[in-house]
Formats: sequence, C-alpha cells, structure tokens
Amino acid sequence: MNINRRDFLKVGLAGSAALIGSSTKALASEYFTGWPDRFGVLTDTTLCIGCRKCEVACNEAYKLPKPKVPFDDYSVFEKRRRTHAGAYTVVNRFENPKPGREPIYVKIQCMHCDEPACVSVCPVKAFTKTPEGAVIYNKGICIGCRYCMIACPFNIPAYQYFNAFTPEVTKCPMCFDIRIEKGKIPACVEACPMEALTFGKRSELIKLARQKIMTQPNKYIDHIYGEHEVGGTSWLYLAEAPFKPLGFRNDLGVKPYPELTKGALGMVPLVIMLWPALLMGLHTFSKRRDRDSGTENTTSTRTQGEVVNHEEKEAMP
Ligand code: SF4
Ligand code: SF4
Ligand code: SF4
Repeated sequence: MNINRRDFLKVGLAGSAALIGSSTKALASEYFTGWPDRFGVLTDTTLCIGCRKCEVACNEAYKLPKPKVPFDDYSVFEKRRRTHAGAYTVVNRFENPKPGREPIYVKIQCMHCDEPACVSVCPVKAFTKTPEGAVIYNKGICIGCRYCMIACPFNIPAYQYFNAFTPEVTKCPMCFDIRIEKGKIPACVEACPMEALTFGKRSELIKLARQKIMTQPNKYIDHIYGEHEVGGTSWLYLAEAPFKPLGFRNDLGVKPYPELTKGALGMVPLVIMLWPALLMGLHTFSKRRDRDSGTENTTSTRTQGEVVNHEEKEAMP
C-alpha cells in the first residue's frame, strides 16, 4: 500500500465535516483511547532538508511578525531553537549520529497530545482537544495564569506581549481554525516540497509509518515517536536515528500527563478559583479582628500586602 500526502487529504477530510463543530475536552481517564477519527501529521525526518518553507508558511498563515533573521538565513541552525510567540513551528538541525551522513532536520510544534496536560490544568478551559485532533486555545477566556506553560511536557506554549493589554498564550493550533475547518490541510504540510509531512487520520498515519519501518528497516529505527509517548500524540515522527539525540524527550513514559499530574496540578484550578474568595475571607477576618483590637490600619495593611505578594507569586510562576 503506497499512500501519499494527497491521498490522505481525500480520505481524511471526507469525514471531517461530520466532526467539525462538536469540540469537547479530552478526558483524563485510563479508559479514554482518543477520538477514533482524529487527524494528525506524520513527520518523516529522513525526508526533511531543512528548507524552512514550513516555517514561512506558518508565519504567513497566522500573520505572525517577520523574524529578525530572514527565513533563508540558515545560520539559525547554529543554535537549537524553540517555538515562541512569533513562531509556532521551528526546524532544528542535529548532527547525524551515523558517521558520514547528512545532518538531520527536525521540525517542532505543538504535538497535539491525545490527553493534553495543557487542557487538564487550565482552570477556565481555555484549551480544548477537538475530536479532529487539534488542541486549540480560546484567548477570550484565558486568564493568563500560564499553568499550561508549566504543564506541557514538550515546552510548547509561549506567552506573547505584542499587545500589552491583551497578552495571550500562543502555540500551533494545527491550522484548525483557518484551514482544517475549511477542509484544507495545514499550511506547513502543504508547503513542504519534500512531502516530509503527511496529514491524515492518525490511525492511517500509524499504518503508513509502520509500513515504512517494515519495508525499509535499514532506513528507519523501529520507533514511531508520539504513538505511545504521554498516552499518544496527533503529531508523529519517524527517524533514522534514536530520538533522544534529535532533541526528543525519552523520559516521558506512556501514561497521559493528566493522569500523572491529577494529584498535584489537578488542584490548581480549584486553588485559582477559590483564591479570590479565600483572600476576601482573610481580609474580612483580619479587618474584623483589627477593629476589635483597635489596630486596624497598620495590621490590615501588612496583611493585605503579604496576601497580594503571595497572590502574584501564584499567578506568575
Ligand atoms: S504539546 Fe503541550 S501544548 Fe501541545 S497539546 Fe501537548 S501539552 Fe498541550
Ligand atoms: S499546523 Fe499550522 S499552525 Fe501548526 S505549525 Fe503547521 S502551519 Fe503552523
Ligand atoms: S518544509 Fe519540509 S523539508 Fe522544508 S524544513 Fe519544513 S519539513 Fe523540512
């Protein structure tokens, strides 16, 4: 079976219309096996040449600021980069561990986890895992607590201050709003001249990846990164060398992050929601106590100051 990127487009998008519009959050449950028809992208790093056309396409698709170093300046590969508010995806270059071989280029962006940590920790549900696979963000309800940034095992969400009055968390939304919902494949996938990126149903992408590994065992290592990591991700990778030296974490395990963090981070939303009420209660109690003891001004000011500092600490990790 030989399936190319465009065949996936036909197969994959045929079912999307029925799914679009019924977004809902991922369930942090050991019984949750993911939305059956969710889409994803398979990145075959053996095909990537580091041309950065995917970065250009993403920049244009989301009208992001032009980078200080132009896209055709490959000196950027001298340092390892991470995604940020001005770049939802970046390509990094790694030395090939096999002697005499070309370097390996790795495009990174949000992994669109099946059970995303960012979704589970957000106290106001600003993040959503859609049945189509994309993890999307609603800036309209975000309160800027940035717990998503701490929780993400891939260090992806960034905070942007372009507009001082409406800062927001930024990350790759898989082109959900501007392309997938309209029946188009993500801009980076379309732009890749090497077809290193394949968009389609995740289940079909895994079949394709397995087929590649099986038929070309000398070309690929026997590992589809993202198939099981953190409970599975919609963005998947193939490589010719072990993933760790290519910048991938190999210590994440296969348990979904929401399960691992539900004891600790699971309390975060509750704390945030209860915090104002708690503060108000403390303040009222303190005022009443001070009034009764006749020391209202000095003590109450100090108590408030301590509380405010503590609140800032909580809100700005
Ligand atoms: S990679 Fe990070 S930001 Fe993306 S879905 Fe997973 S937890 Fe959320
Ligand atoms: S899927 Fe869209 S938003 Fe994500 S990296 Fe590709 S072009 Fe950018
Ligand atoms: S456009 Fe394709 S080949 Fe070029 S850097 Fe991006 S993934 Fe690699």
